[in-house]
Amino acid sequence: MDSRSGSEFQQLPKAELHLHLGGSFPKEFLFSIATKLQQEQIKESLELISQRIDYNRAFHIFGLIAEVVNSEEKLENGVHHLCLSLKKDHVHYVEIRTGLKNLGKGPEEYLKAVLRGIEAHASEQFKANIVLSLQRSSSLEMTKETIDLALKYRDQGVVGLDISGNSTVGNIEKIMPELIRAKEEGIPFIVHMGETPSEIDQLHLLTQLEPKRIGHGVYLNNEAKEWILRHKTPLEICLTSSVLGKMIDEYKQHPGFDFFRLGHPIAFCTDDPLLFSTTMSQELVYAQIAGMSKEDIQQIVKKSFDYSLEAL
Ligand SMILES: [Zn+2]
Repeated sequence: MDSRSGSEFQQLPKAELHLHLGGSFPKEFLFSIATKLQQEQIKESLELISQRIDYNRAFHIFGLIAEVVNSEEKLENGVHHLCLSLKKDHVHYVEIRTGLKNLGKGPEEYLKAVLRGIEAHASEQFKANIVLSLQRSSSLEMTKETIDLALKYRDQGVVGLDISGNSTVGNIEKIMPELIRAKEEGIPFIVHMGETPSEIDQLHLLTQLEPKRIGHGVYLNNEAKEWILRHKTPLEICLTSSVLGKMIDEYKQHPGFDFFRLGHPIAFCTDDPLLFSTTMSQELVYAQIAGMSKEDIQQIVKKSFDYSLEAL
């Protein structure tokens, strides 16, 4: 991992389009409310992730973080601190993804706490929107509730739905009628795709949900690739996440660079700045290390604003 700082790109106004709330709370904030034991456990998990240790072993950190951020008040405060750290890195637009949870008062109160956390930061220079996440394996009940809330809060900061999770776990067909309902109501989708080589539902998800952007897209089969190229669907490239998550060994191996060479829209994103100890500026340094010119990177960053769910 290169230790060059992202200062060169720091001043550049940036759009962060792929960021999961659970993996993005600033460490200082988490440690300010965590017990000594929780701090040690989080440190240990972050260390494992930085060493590219087994994905599942390291990723119980999401559970640890959920134990720390365990009330609506802490959640709101965590979102507030996340916005502060994004603004410091000159992120001018962010779409924060989060799955709804029940911290005691139900999923709607969870969402309201997140919305309160971003509210105070809205300005000419900064805007945050929320994308609600569903797993391929989400229950029908949770899916319904999430979609109902996405519809209810669509003009109050919720701009879309994200599908994530292991494509080999759970049967998305169970929730597909609900997802189609959301699509017919005009809610745009983003889909995580190609994180593992064995996905079989790629073309199906693309044709059913017609996502506005694709997360990662590292292992895409030919039909999916063709669909994405034809629809000019922007790819969200998370370089550090792809290396530490063992999708690729080196930044330059990311197939997003091949898409770019074909004139396809791409955006650089972090996925989880806490988990991968990165920032938007830092990801741009890694793009440069992968061989991309500074001018190309600046152009990509500029155009990324056009791929927001608000704009598409
Ligand atoms: Zn992601």
